[in-house]
Amino acid sequence: MRNLTLGDRGREVSDVQKRLLTQGFELGREGVDGYYGPNTRLAVRAFQQRRGLLVDGEVGDNTWRELVETGYTLGDRLLYLREPQFRGDDVLGLQVKLNLLGFNAGAERGVYDEDVERAVLDFQRNAGLVPDGIVGPVTLAKLEALRKAESGREGKKIPDRYGGRVAARSLAGQVVALDAGHGGPDTGVVSASGLTEKDVALALVLRLDELLRADGCQVVLTRSGDQDVPLYERTETVMAADAAFMLSLHANGNDSPEAQGAACYYFQRSHYFSERGRRLAEHIGARLDDAGARFLGSFGRNYGILREPKAIGLLVEPLFLTSPADEGWARRPGFVDRVAAAIRAGLADYLARTPLASERGGERP
Ligand SMILES: [Zn+2]
Repeated sequence: MRNLTLGDRGREVSDVQKRLLTQGFELGREGVDGYYGPNTRLAVRAFQQRRGLLVDGEVGDNTWRELVETGYTLGDRLLYLREPQFRGDDVLGLQVKLNLLGFNAGAERGVYDEDVERAVLDFQRNAGLVPDGIVGPVTLAKLEALRKAESGREGKKIPDRYGGRVAARSLAGQVVALDAGHGGPDTGVVSASGLTEKDVALALVLRLDELLRADGCQVVLTRSGDQDVPLYERTETVMAADAAFMLSLHANGNDSPEAQGAACYYFQRSHYFSERGRRLAEHIGARLDDAGARFLGSFGRNYGILREPKAIGLLVEPLFLTSPADEGWARRPGFVDRVAAAIRAGLADYLARTPLASERGGERP
């Protein structure tokens, strides 16, 4: 889908406006008029803010998908495992309920996957229902009754995939997906002297690819040249590879040239966040700091690239291309080598400090 932005007109714009209005976002006097004016842009920004998305005031794939998914409430439709998988706030609500009751419905991504089905079957068996994995009125009524009975109890902490445990402490044998942000006509942020985010990201990814392969990793790239790859094609690549880790490389930008430093983003959606993602972010951030970046910290975001794959995912922005200081650093020889080496070292640190899958702590592998 083409991004919808200020000045656009048509049915697609009306559709976006209707969905925003239903969600309670203000469109001003114009209402649903099929014109992407300043008020629509403001409403889109408010929506993006609330959903933890990148706040750019445009409707691209990620924002569109979120707009569609917010439209569903639990009970609107039957939920079960199928291809393509059900996705939406109804699935998210189901996961939250199951997780609170102690049935492990996995990371709260709002996707009805195998983890959700297993939890539903588990729940149905426990509740004396027919275990068919189909969530309809009967299962929902039982869930609601149990929730009331259990309310006030602490929610359980839901582990990431494999309970966050890893198969080995070293990089050798790990499947790592690398995603260079932007590409083709989509340059991303451009520095004062013309350095583009898409090129910086790709240079870092290609160097990381070499380093990780030398460590014995199996590496998959979402793009290896200057192409514009749609978001959900990227996530398909990561999922098809069954990657344990996904690192997406970007660069930051800000209206103020003062903004400077490195940041890492892990998956977070409302109260749920990927604990492993956050730990990985801290390890990589510490190494970036050692390498000469000023590490600003790690932040939870609901970006599609982090949410879709089950891989422990991280979006890394080692610098602000809009900062003259950071740009100067990026122009110096050895920048790509140092930053790529720092990210590799952070991943190795994470692995070295994570319990092995064979060291059981009562968690299902
Ligand atoms: Zn970017």
